[in-house]
Amino acid sequence: MSVKINENYLLLKSNYIFAEINRRVEEFQKENPNAQIIKMGIGDVTRPLPRAVVEAFDKSVLEMGDADTFMGYGPEQGYKFLIEEIIKNDFKPLGIELSSDEVFISDAAKCDTANIQEIFGLENVIAVTDPVYPVYVDSNVMAGRSGPMQPSGRYEGIVYLPCTAENNFTPELPENPVDLIYLCLPNNPTGTTLTREELSKWVKYAHENNSIILFDAAYEAYVTENNIPRSIYEIEGAKEVAIEFRSFSKNAGFTGTRCAFAVVPKEIVAYDADGKTHDLNSLWNRRQTTKFNGVSYPVQRAAMAVYTPEGQKEIQENIAYYLNNASIVRKSMENIGLKVYGGINSPYIWVKTPENMDSWTFFDLLLKEANVVGTPGVGFGPSGEGYFRLTAFNTLENTEEAMNRITKLSF
Ligand SMILES: *Cc1c(COP(=O)(O)O)cnc(C)c1O
Repeated sequence: MSVKINENYLLLKSNYIFAEINRRVEEFQKENPNAQIIKMGIGDVTRPLPRAVVEAFDKSVLEMGDADTFMGYGPEQGYKFLIEEIIKNDFKPLGIELSSDEVFISDAAKCDTANIQEIFGLENVIAVTDPVYPVYVDSNVMAGRSGPMQPSGRYEGIVYLPCTAENNFTPELPENPVDLIYLCLPNNPTGTTLTREELSKWVKYAHENNSIILFDAAYEAYVTENNIPRSIYEIEGAKEVAIEFRSFSKNAGFTGTRCAFAVVPKEIVAYDADGKTHDLNSLWNRRQTTKFNGVSYPVQRAAMAVYTPEGQKEIQENIAYYLNNASIVRKSMENIGLKVYGGINSPYIWVKTPENMDSWTFFDLLLKEANVVGTPGVGFGPSGEGYFRLTAFNTLENTEEAMNRITKLSF
């Protein structure tokens, strides 16, 4: 006996939800080879990259093959040409001023939201919503911040903020002070979001309690309503208390291309054991320059093309396409008497199961009776029990067909 593992890994929940979904779907398909299964469970886009993005990608790949234009290692923080477009197009129009060294280009919001906890001490208390995007929880479990899992399915050392129909998916401020708060808005999995006024309460809370908000805005492009913020920095005072994560995955179809960014304003500080302040921008810069070597040049050129007028036009069309699917799902579910949430500022629709059915029973019912696959809400946390997630990431034809089949069922 010599090499020891990081035993925190043993605390992770083993049965990953999507593996179990696949197992059930494969088994059903084997028994019913003729069933035309429609998948509305996966959180992955289906529309291709915009033309302008592909052209920029293509051009920059050719540059890499020419001695005169070849690019080696780039800046770990990302190229200025992309950072400047981001600031100019994503933040300036919202009245948010950022300097170029406050934006860090990366290959994933998944990695950024998982890695950010590294710059914080292990003694910090973290708070997550329930249901939750599993990355926030699991990355803290691996680091050793969670303690063991309780029979309720929640970790002992993590503070959970339930989001259910009862509180209109608006998490309540924690009773006891917490240090780090993960908020994903518009939310995955519920598709719901907070208004400016509701988010302001969290910024105020963070100021009053010396907390920091880790704000995942991966779905900001789906915001359609005026009173819903696209960035947490729209809220006064947020720059002192919030880090924001963005991604080109869900707006521009980069899930297979990989590009994202984190905003770490210079105003945010945290404390050492002696009570001395340290700015998080420097810590994150140190972390990234040590452990990350930047996103490839062609990918950053491709991401830059997202901001061209042609790129924007296609992206807006794609988002409108998904939101139209979402609206069809919403209406169809409402027509058969189910309660639905989300799907207005989000590609996700969160359905309350009929007759208080549990999430997996509803999953099996839809699979068997309608050959439609969704995601059981309980897979995102105990408060997701009794809910079901459907996504708008599919063709219009498949979405309509799936809804026709479900509409014929009686619950
Ligand atoms: C899809 C998604 C992301 C984006 O992840 P990438 O790694 O950039 O593809 C981030 N957060 C949430 C909640 C998501 O659903």
